[in-house]
Amino acid sequence: MKAIYPGSFDPVTNGHLDIIERAANLFDELVVAVAPNIDKKALFTVEERLEMLREVCKEIPNVTVDSFTGLLVRYAAEQNASVIIKGLRALSDFEFEFEMALMNRRLDSGIETVFMMTNAEYSYLSSSIVKEVASFGGSVSGLVPKVVEERLISKFSIRS
Ligand code: ADP
Repeated sequence: MKAIYPGSFDPVTNGHLDIIERAANLFDELVVAVAPNIDKKALFTVEERLEMLREVCKEIPNVTVDSFTGLLVRYAAEQNASVIIKGLRALSDFEFEFEMALMNRRLDSGIETVFMMTNAEYSYLSSSIVKEVASFGGSVSGLVPKVVEERLISKFSIRS
C-alpha cells in the first residue's frame, strides 16, 4: 500500500523524520510531499526543502520525496496512493486536521487519512519554533537533522 505524507517541511524537523520512519515501516511505499505553504511565510524555497528531505531520507529505501501544488487528494490519486499520513502533536492540531480529513474524504472517498501520534520527545516541536530560535542564534541541535541545522545557520548568517 502506498501513502503520502504531505506538509510544508520548512524545514524538516526530527518530529517529521520520526513520523517518516514510522510510516515507512507501516506502508510499502511512502511519498513525502512538499506543499508550498500558502499562508505561512516560507524561509526555504521548495527546492531547498526537497534537497534537505532527500538528504535525510536517503537511507530509507521505500521513501521518495516530491512536491505538489493544488488539491492533495488529486495528487494522491495521481500517485496511486490510498492513504494520507498526518502527524498529531497536541489538541491544537486536532481541529484543523479533523476538518481537513473530512473534507478530503468528501472530495475522494477512496483515500483514507491516517493519523500518527507524535513521539513525546517532539510533541512541542514545529518548524516555526525551530526557525524562530535559529533566527535569534539559539541552538536547534537535536531538534533537526544536522544538514538542516547547517542550512539554518547559513541562512540566518547571510540575513544578519
Ligand atoms: P509545521 O506545523 O511544523 O510547520 P508541517 O506543515 O510541515 O509542519 O507539517 C506536516 C505534517 O507533520 C503535519 O501532519 C504535522 O501535524 C506533522 N508534524 C509536524 N511536526 C510534528 C511533530 N513534532 N511530531 C509529529 N508530527 C508533526
